[in-house]
Amino acid sequence: MSSEGDYINIKYSNECFKLINETFCKFLDLDSINYQVELKRSLEKIGLFFNLDRIYIYYFSKDPTFMKIECQWNKEGISPKRKIEEEEVVYALPWLMREIKNNDFVAINSIEELPDEALFSIDAFLKEGIKSSLIIPLKSQNKLIGFIGYESLSKSIIWDEKQINILRDISKAFSCAKSRITKEKLYELILDGQSILLNNSESQIWALSNVTSYATVNEAHAKFFGKKKSDLEYQDLYDIFDIETANKFSENNWDLFEKNELTEKDLEIKNYKGENRLLRIKSKPYKDEAGNIKYLVCTAEDITEQRKAEKELYKAKEQAETANIAKSQFLANMSHEIRTPINGIFGFLKLLQSTNLSLEQKEFIREAKAASEVLLHIINDILDFSKIEARKLKMEKIEFNLRNIIEDAVSLLAPKAEEKGIELYTMIKAEVPEKVIGDPSRLSQILNNLISNAVKFTQKGEIAVTVDFLEEDNGIAVINFQVKDTGIGIHDDHINTIFQSFSQGDASTTRKYGGTGLGLAISNELVKMMGGEIYVESILGEGSTFKFNVRLKIANGGLKQKFAFEKFAGMNILIADDNTNNRKIVSSYLQDIGLKVFEAKDGTSAITTILTNANTENKINIAIINYKMSDMTGYQLATTLKTIPFANDIKLILLTSVTQKGDTKLAKEYGFSSYLGKPVRRDELLECIARVLGLKKENEEPQVVTKHIVKEVKNVLKPRILLVEDNEMNRKIVISMLKTHNMTCDIAVDGSEALKAVEKKDYDVIFMDCQMPVMDGYECTSKIRLLEGTKKHNKIIAMTANVMEGDYEKCIKAGMDAYISKPINFDIMFNMIEDNTKENCKVLDYNNIIESNINYFVQSTGLKKEDAKEILEEYIKYLPDLFENIDKAIYNSDFNKLAGLAHELKGSSGNLRINSIYELAIKLEEAVLKREIDECIRFFGEIKDLLC
Ligand code: ADP
Repeated sequence: MSSEGDYINIKYSNECFKLINETFCKFLDLDSINYQVELKRSLEKIGLFFNLDRIYIYYFSKDPTFMKIECQWNKEGISPKRKIEEEEVVYALPWLMREIKNNDFVAINSIEELPDEALFSIDAFLKEGIKSSLIIPLKSQNKLIGFIGYESLSKSIIWDEKQINILRDISKAFSCAKSRITKEKLYELILDGQSILLNNSESQIWALSNVTSYATVNEAHAKFFGKKKSDLEYQDLYDIFDIETANKFSENNWDLFEKNELTEKDLEIKNYKGENRLLRIKSKPYKDEAGNIKYLVCTAEDITEQRKAEKELYKAKEQAETANIAKSQFLANMSHEIRTPINGIFGFLKLLQSTNLSLEQKEFIREAKAASEVLLHIINDILDFSKIEARKLKMEKIEFNLRNIIEDAVSLLAPKAEEKGIELYTMIKAEVPEKVIGDPSRLSQILNNLISNAVKFTQKGEIAVTVDFLEEDNGIAVINFQVKDTGIGIHDDHINTIFQSFSQGDASTTRKYGGTGLGLAISNELVKMMGGEIYVESILGEGSTFKFNVRLKIANGGLKQKFAFEKFAGMNILIADDNTNNRKIVSSYLQDIGLKVFEAKDGTSAITTILTNANTENKINIAIINYKMSDMTGYQLATTLKTIPFANDIKLILLTSVTQKGDTKLAKEYGFSSYLGKPVRRDELLECIARVLGLKKENEEPQVVTKHIVKEVKNVLKPRILLVEDNEMNRKIVISMLKTHNMTCDIAVDGSEALKAVEKKDYDVIFMDCQMPVMDGYECTSKIRLLEGTKKHNKIIAMTANVMEGDYEKCIKAGMDAYISKPINFDIMFNMIEDNTKENCKVLDYNNIIESNINYFVQSTGLKKEDAKEILEEYIKYLPDLFENIDKAIYNSDFNKLAGLAHELKGSSGNLRINSIYELAIKLEEAVLKREIDECIRFFGEIKDLLC
């Protein structure tokens, strides 16, 4: 019995092993397609083998709080575990789930064994009619992925260990298969995704295993050659393509392999239509662990169209640039062409003005000159505007004195304002830095435009130019400018458009005042280029205020105040002027440096102020007196003050808008110590006070002096000038102009003549036209510089009508020293001559006198030649001192001294029969007596010329 029992046991065990083996073998390489069918079959086999009623498998979903039946087998006549296989909540049976999670199996032999807490499980057992159940967790890599349930509904089963172990082993086959198939599916999914990307990419992608062989390619690459992926993959290029394409491709591949790094390269290659296409290929080597290239992965974009568009764009840009250059060149040429005749008009009008003319003729010339000035202004505006449009306008970055630039701009328009009876003031706040870095000429241009507009559009009242320091930001000063007038104002309708080009107020304004409507547009751009903004506030009929800010770099020491005269402290100053603003400005400049200032609105109140303060600590030390006041003139006030005992020691300074030469003497005669022109410049005011107080030495500059005199004294020297100019009209103008100043020049009509002239003679100044036939000014200058070497340096000044950007640089590059533009501003030209005329002319050769006069002296006196020579030698010994004293007396307009000296020269030269000097000395003496300083300068210059 026992052996029969043993046999049965062994047979059962063998059957069991067979079942396990079969299940494992089947599920080891089961694919996903047959998985479900085979799974059901296996469950059935197991169920029948163990005489069970039902087997089911649950797997957890992605969200592990849900699960779903994967497969179920139910014995015939047994209703399915779940009629609908859908997701269920995991924790519907919490006790059971906990048991599954924490044990290798859950064996329930009968419902009675279930503990009280398995409340829901008991319910489910009862509902489903389950008698016994064995539940085995399904795991993958130790992670619970689901469970398998074996159930009996017809009878109770006592689950023995052997049975449990067998079923656990079989269950492993299911969990292994499940996790393998899940992984495979995932992998397939990934591969699918990648192939979707690869094959739908617009970019071509391929991998090469060597220079001539593909590994894999995407659809786009195959399509480019009109082929299928499989035609290319793992094929040799020479088997796929024609020889030309294969050669080209492999050559390219060779380069990419050789680079052995991320590379970009363009390749032109034929597509399946035989069209040449440009591919931009990016390649990256994919290396094995040993560092050898396994594949070269390439991606490519077809950039044929892009390149075509780029080429067209480049062509268009080139065309635009050429057009722009042509436009600029045209402008430069036009400007040159227009400036040359204007130069003629200006020059000849100026010359004509110095001839004898009737009053009517003089008026015509004045009108003609005004018209040409307007014309020149318009041309300059248009040129500037074109430069801005062509973005050719460059800002300079040079150090300059801000105060001077502002005051110069105001001074320039002061005469025009005065002509119209308009007061013009400048008020520069003390905090405004002195030295800054920027473009001074462009800043002047803006100021000039705003102030000249203010003068133009104002009939009565005043114009105030105020400059303020707003803030400093990293060494950059923000400066605010305001130009306020009491003119016609601007209508609201026009206020927003006046900064646009060619835009003016209403038509009647345009007709009445003229103009181009470009000035403000240019100013607006210039202000923007200086980092600021310009705007206007205006009330029609009352006036306008233009305001703008600019950002200027503060130069080293730019914030320091130049004036620090300690002795100013304690001084009391009176300013007598009927104009409140003028008084305010002068007061503020003086108060800034710590002076006590009293104001008087007319002559009478000036006298009262002086008298009431006479014996107090406020005793007036200096009085600044306006030339014109409502009750008396400045001269009358000065005369009165000189008669008052405790007022006659007050130092007087005359304030006047008319800076004429004659006033100097007159002012002195009335007892003024110094003289100041309006609009008042702060530095001049302070310097003037310093001089009056003796804080500045007298010999540094004469007490009452105008620039005019300084210039004329220098003009006594005879400059050596070479004019290089091919245009006859231009030559005529310059020669005639020089003649009006008693100067002459040598002429060269082109560069080669100039070169010859320089070989023979040194010049103080060479005025050089730039465009000339035979040899132009640039070449000529370079050659002159070569000729001079390091020993000499003739001053060469370009005289040209070219004023476009780069012209100045071109001149300097050629070796020129400076630049004067046509139409020539003759004041600038004479300044240049004056600045460059060397002192060597003044080195007079007194021996000339002996040589040229000894014979006549011997003849007329009967003296022996040796004796005559001795006398003449004595004479010339004393001449240098005499000449120096005459120079000084002319410089100081000291006619008393000059009279004596001229008389002395006349006497000595007459005694020695030196007629050439004697005759000129007579004329000099006459001029002294007539107090004609110009004439004195002229005759004394001629005397000196005799000795040169
Ligand atoms: P232009 O003065 O050459 O016509 P602008 O650009 O300088 O050109 O000025 C444009 C217009 O703005 C002027 O025509 C004038 O109508 C108006 N305008 C400018 N400045 C003033 C001012 N200070 N007062 C009144 N109107 C002004």
